[in-house]
Amino acid sequence: MFKKILIDLHAEIELPRGWFRGSLERQAEELEYEARELTEFIRDHRSRDSYQISIVREYKTVCEFCGFDEERDGEGVPVCCGKAIEEYNMAKVEPVGGKG
Ligand SMILES: [Zn+2]
Repeated sequence: MFKKILIDLHAEIELPRGWFRGSLERQAEELEYEARELTEFIRDHRSRDSYQISIVREYKTVCEFCGFDEERDGEGVPVCCGKAIEEYNMAKVEPVGGKG
């Protein structure tokens, strides 16, 4: 029924990050800085001047209350914890962006 097809290609480069501290977002900013520096370095070598290094952030959705990965039942109701279910039910009662 399902088959795996190739849809896109990316090259990866591992930048040294042993000394980076702080949140992943902070580390991403540091890596982006390193990537820009290395891109400039490569650009000085004319035969590779179209090379570009970029940092790709990976995200997943987790519950803000319990920290579990987002998981919902067939109706779209969260299943991880009572607080999430409670908030889901509140949002249903008041659908117009009532997020505080
Ligand atoms: Zn939860």
